[in-house]
Amino acid sequence: MIDRRTFNAALLGAAASVGVAQAQQQTTTNQQSLRLIATEEAFTTPEQLAAMSKLGGTGPIKDPDLNSIRNKARALDVESPLTRTTRALLDIGEQRIADMDRAGVAMHVLSLTSPGVQMLDVPTAHEVARVSNDRLAEAVRKYPTRFAGLASFAPQDPAGAVKEIERSIRDLKLHGLVVNSHTNEEYLDLPKYWPILEAAEALDAALYIHPRNPPAAILPFLDMPDAGTQLSSAMWGFQLDTGLHAARLIVSGIFDRFPKLKIVLGHMGEGVPFWLFRMDQRYKMRNAGEGSRTGRKLQRLPSEYFKSNFLITTSGVFWDDSLKFCRDAIGADNIMFAIDYPYEESSQAARFMNAAPLPPAELRKVAYENAERVFHIRRS
Ligand code: MN
Repeated sequence: MIDRRTFNAALLGAAASVGVAQAQQQTTTNQQSLRLIATEEAFTTPEQLAAMSKLGGTGPIKDPDLNSIRNKARALDVESPLTRTTRALLDIGEQRIADMDRAGVAMHVLSLTSPGVQMLDVPTAHEVARVSNDRLAEAVRKYPTRFAGLASFAPQDPAGAVKEIERSIRDLKLHGLVVNSHTNEEYLDLPKYWPILEAAEALDAALYIHPRNPPAAILPFLDMPDAGTQLSSAMWGFQLDTGLHAARLIVSGIFDRFPKLKIVLGHMGEGVPFWLFRMDQRYKMRNAGEGSRTGRKLQRLPSEYFKSNFLITTSGVFWDDSLKFCRDAIGADNIMFAIDYPYEESSQAARFMNAAPLPPAELRKVAYENAERVFHIRRS
């Protein structure tokens, strides 16, 4: 339900949204003008907006009523009082491309905005994922040099999710997958979700684990009544939950089972790169040494999985110190440029990337080469 509050805040509001306004006032002053492929760029569809607005405060819609969602979606397509952020999310065409041009961004790799379809009941989730993937594929076909796309799916029904994943990658030719961390407070390491990971691996489709708010039990500790801000969302909770998701995948042995699976984390790796030494250290003490308590052993150390099976992106973290650390810790082959449009400002992200303190060959990898490789983006 807190996710929904965040989602509605994006719809309704907000002073916090700086993206479009500031970008419009600034001209690009890039000296190097690298080719930039931004890999965590949000969009929405009328169908997602309509379905989310129907969500009750406490859980999924009881009666999916798909016709009413479609009608509401049609109404949203016409004139309605939307915020600037919502308008920016809805546009996967000229308005977005104008923002990209102002900032000097060549491509957006688009993904349905968090929490995707994961809070919806199964039939609604499938419907919204399917229609959103169709709309995404249409935008990519129309602007093949400006847009690529990550497909959404409904993990709450793993078998149906696999079908949509296969359709999206094989038929729609989308470039990868996106999931918004936990689904009904469950994480993808659970065996019931393995078919999703198996399909992603088989299709060589990288899975971007985008944040959402943590499970309800921890929210009271994150949202302090007097703090004047909410730790549950991007300030702390997103990283807490998504970093946990990544750590769970690693220690549960998912990458021994699916060794070619590629996971992408935004926000400079959601804190995980900074923690790899300690994960290895404690793993060696508890699981690999004489005092091993579980008898279960991973084939490799946690940090080794991270370096071979994960990529991170710069979304929302336009900070040289963090980039330099991550480059040293996991290598420039594993880092991709991202903005987090429209929640972050494109020109700030582009200036950061163009001036980043990396050797030119590594700069090119982070700016676009890694994205072309991981998401199978071909230049037309
Ligand atoms: Mn994002």
